[in-house]
Amino acid sequence: MPATRVLCFVSLLLLFCTSAAFSADIPSKPSHSSEATFPKFSLYGAKTLAECAPILAAARSTLASLRSSYPADWTIDIACTDMEWQRILQMADQHKTNTAFSRLEKRHTIINGAIFRKFRSSYRRTLSHELGHILCNCASERVAEELAAKMEQ
Ligand SMILES: [Zn+2]
Repeated sequence: MPATRVLCFVSLLLLFCTSAAFSADIPSKPSHSSEATFPKFSLYGAKTLAECAPILAAARSTLASLRSSYPADWTIDIACTDMEWQRILQMADQHKTNTAFSRLEKRHTIINGAIFRKFRSSYRRTLSHELGHILCNCASERVAEELAAKMEQ
């Protein structure tokens, strides 16, 4: 696995960028599953990669436990701090969620890193729910929940 690069990820698509963000390189196909693919990750708000490493590890292992995979060309943006999450919500004009939201047309899912301080079943549902939106390519909360429940089995 290549060393993790540290770079400022200037996201013109999302119109938000922090002074320090981290892009984590991971294999597109994990060795334990020939089917699963991983999205790209960008970490926001942490001063060092180590600050956000436990969150990234939890996200990766949880994604690997789902029956479906985020597309390899998808990006998951993680707000590593509460302050960063609030800033992103304001920039994105999102006021309905405190866990995550997806921009299907931009192929990004933005996640509040604080969810990984809760029970695994809770943040696992958040990740599978957002993936449900991606798979149905729809905004329907009902369909996203149905798909989420299936991929958690
Ligand atoms: Zn939803």
